[in-house]
Amino acid sequence: MRVGILGGGQLGWMTILEGRKIGLEFLVLDSNPRSPASRIADRWFPPEDVGEFLSLADVVTAEFEHIPEDILSQASYKMKPSAEVLLMKRSRIEEKRTLLKLGYPLPRFLWGDREVLGDLVRTLGLPAVVKAERQGYDGKGQYRVGSEEDLSRIVSNHPPEERFVVEEFVSFEREVSLIGVRDDLGRVKVFPLTENYHKEGILLYNRTTHLPEVEKEAASITCSLMEDLKVVGLLAVEFFVTGNGRILINEIAPRPHNTGHYTLDGTYTSQFENLVRAICGLPLGSTHLKSPSGMVNILGMDMEDLNLSDILSVEGAKVYWYGKEKRPRRKMGHVNLVGRSEHEVRSKLDKVIDLIYSEEIKIP
Ligand code: AMP
Repeated sequence: MRVGILGGGQLGWMTILEGRKIGLEFLVLDSNPRSPASRIADRWFPPEDVGEFLSLADVVTAEFEHIPEDILSQASYKMKPSAEVLLMKRSRIEEKRTLLKLGYPLPRFLWGDREVLGDLVRTLGLPAVVKAERQGYDGKGQYRVGSEEDLSRIVSNHPPEERFVVEEFVSFEREVSLIGVRDDLGRVKVFPLTENYHKEGILLYNRTTHLPEVEKEAASITCSLMEDLKVVGLLAVEFFVTGNGRILINEIAPRPHNTGHYTLDGTYTSQFENLVRAICGLPLGSTHLKSPSGMVNILGMDMEDLNLSDILSVEGAKVYWYGKEKRPRRKMGHVNLVGRSEHEVRSKLDKVIDLIYSEEIKIP
């Protein structure tokens, strides 16, 4: 079978590496022939060749969320997950309104254009978090607002027609996420829960964790959301866990997720392999954890900046290097870690973070 991927980033790259093992072929549509997935695809197509790309692919999936609407509508007859779900994800407002309508737990939020931003913030109260409606990821287009004076600086970063979500600031106890997979027949599996640690809005590292109550609730929300949205493929759900044990959805992603990179080494089947199994009508693989696991993102550095030998000397450490051009804060690669206990994973995370980043970052 031939799988078409919209987008050429590292999520597509890992999907291809994993899908090839079970004999699938991959086509990638991306403007850049040197992007990670474009480079290793069986065939790369620029956006203007979308017609040929679609005629050759048996099924099409997406590895990022900001796909132009015209491409999505042309590809919709082969898309898994559906183009409707991906269209909804193009807008933070639509995403939140959809989840609210379906009755899922969310932080309190309001939305509107720049004219009403002050009113929204006053209604919701400070501190608040303002998020631009479109193109936001890895903390981009997202601001913590401590006073109304911050708002003029925020709107000046965006075009006049931009709309915003204003969200209550959640003083969460922890951030967790859970990834589910669902096939055409509605069969589902969920991957283990992970606890995630961000720095300036971008994931720095995460690890599997034993929080049975939270995991049960997160799994139940993820499964019913996959059913409500009729997702065929993956759905990642990011949650805030508050002091009183409530869980609130921060955001969802109908694609492989950075917090699931550990599954390449930590579970019997990776998120990437289960994505292609689901969309190609193959049986879903076991999502059981082989051993406690963790992952560290390599952000904004070149291979030459990396202490590769020392990182590879950590028992069980695996380095994944995406081969992208270096930019500040950009996800350039990641390191997966496994251990015999959560404690062992924590101390390996400590060691690898020390080796990658010079600054002091403590692992809670
Ligand atoms: P997002 O791009 O929405 O995933 O946000 C990135 C990170 O910003 C989250 O993982 C949180 O650490 C933080 N964040 C986002 N929204 C809120 C909020 N309403 N309250 C507190 N922190 C937030």
